[in-house]
Amino acid sequence: MQKEKYRLQLPGPTPVPPRVQLAMSRPMIGHRDPDCAQLVQDLSERLRPIFGTPNPVLLLTGSGTSALEAAAANTVSEGEEAAVVVSGAFGDRFAQILDSMQVKVHRLDIEWGKACRPEELADFLKQHSRVKAVFLTFCETSTGVLNPIPELAREVREHTEALTIVDGVSCIGGTPAKAEEWGVDILVTGSQKALMLPPGLAFAAVSDRAWKRVEANTHPRYYLDFRQYRKSLEKANTPNTPAVSLFFGLEEVLNMLEEEGLENVYARHRLMRDILRKGIEALGLPLLTENRDASPTVTAVKGGADWSVEDLRKELRQLGVRVAGGQQRLKGKVFRIGHMGYADPLDMLSTLSALEVALKRIGAPVETGAGMKAAEEEWIRVSRVNH
Ligand SMILES: *Cc1c(COP(=O)(O)O)cnc(C)c1O
Repeated sequence: MQKEKYRLQLPGPTPVPPRVQLAMSRPMIGHRDPDCAQLVQDLSERLRPIFGTPNPVLLLTGSGTSALEAAAANTVSEGEEAAVVVSGAFGDRFAQILDSMQVKVHRLDIEWGKACRPEELADFLKQHSRVKAVFLTFCETSTGVLNPIPELAREVREHTEALTIVDGVSCIGGTPAKAEEWGVDILVTGSQKALMLPPGLAFAAVSDRAWKRVEANTHPRYYLDFRQYRKSLEKANTPNTPAVSLFFGLEEVLNMLEEEGLENVYARHRLMRDILRKGIEALGLPLLTENRDASPTVTAVKGGADWSVEDLRKELRQLGVRVAGGQQRLKGKVFRIGHMGYADPLDMLSTLSALEVALKRIGAPVETGAGMKAAEEEWIRVSRVNH
């Protein structure tokens, strides 16, 4: 196999489009140069529809987790109470961050593979109405669940005075988000998932209501202090040297998203999810999540009784397809296919084809072509409905 020709079907990092790669090779500019100021202002405004916020989006240099930590450090302090909905490894990460800050964490643990239901959150918050913030995960990357954020945010408003803080790292840019309309106070993401950039940038949309808390919060912070980012943004700047090359790339990503149209981008992601799921089902492999909870950006598939998930991943790697394994308690039990950003329906067919070959090679009882056939039929069915 050619070493450079492989398919990155991971839930991050995701493939970078050639024109974005090219944009990032532009000569460096000074981060206090007027050209950079123009760029910062432009990016923070053009990102707004992707988050559904009326406010300029904060641009942080750091991986997605830096935005999770920033969201926590700017809104809650030691000794205060916070609720975290843990539906997988990334909800757990939020809880760990809050634990490290000595915040009193109330965890609502949801069975991995399932979404949090609004009633469950409502019952939980009735017992913990003093919480200052409720931390939610939009797409739980470890399971492929898309939590129903609009409904969950409504329950937070109904039962508490708390802020609603959402980790949207593995879906923002691949699924609609309306932070303001839904009552989400902070919505964050990172660059290397649906935004088709290399790792290194994180983003935060902050509501007016959240800004009041950010101003008043006493937790110590420096690099991740939202107040500094806002002050700098007023001068079209960032507090420190940002990842300027990624800004060049982001500008090109926004061009691409605007050219395709956000609604079309989201429809493409739903289509990828649906044809992939049909294909996997037809191969007789169990999906971890039910259809109603399935994220348009990542799909988790359970392993079989007579073959190992890790053997399958090794075989797929040989064929030039990179898929992710399970995290924490799902390690060795599932594999995960990312389908976000620079990805299209044909990528799902090539993934299914490789999956069929790899499964055969490890001796799994599958019928070659069955997944491809079901996926193609779903693709055809959806195109008929849309014409
Ligand atoms: C990838 C991801 C993150 C951030 O991970 P980093 O490695 O810090 O970029 C956070 N939350 C979710 C849901 C993710 O998928």
